[in-house]
Amino acid sequence: MMTEQERLEVYKKATELWGLVAQYDQCVEEMGELIVAINKFKRKMLYKEYKGDPKIIENLVEEIADVSICLEQMRYFYKDYGVEEMIDKKMQKFQGQIKKMEEEGRE
Ligand SMILES: [Mg+2]
Repeated sequence: MMTEQERLEVYKKATELWGLVAQYDQCVEEMGELIVAINKFKRKMLYKEYKGDPKIIENLVEEIADVSICLEQMRYFYKDYGVEEMIDKKMQKFQGQIKKMEEEGRE
């Protein structure tokens, strides 16, 4: 497995080689591919066409990986602009919503 430092080096070199705009374009393309993969997965699952075809899940996993890489790259680009703090803030809010729902469920 690559270390975080090695991945960050790849993002830095990719940006030097192809430029920032190409990195954004790649992200947009990958996010579009994930949307398609999720829709295919949902359609197959909802209409019971799945029938154990591993390609549907393989495709979904591949697109999740692509978008995760893109988002890690974006987090690296914006690390000095509070992106990690924003993620933490949103996760705490999310956690709070879940706790509230659980408490309401117990009443
Ligand atoms: Mg892709």
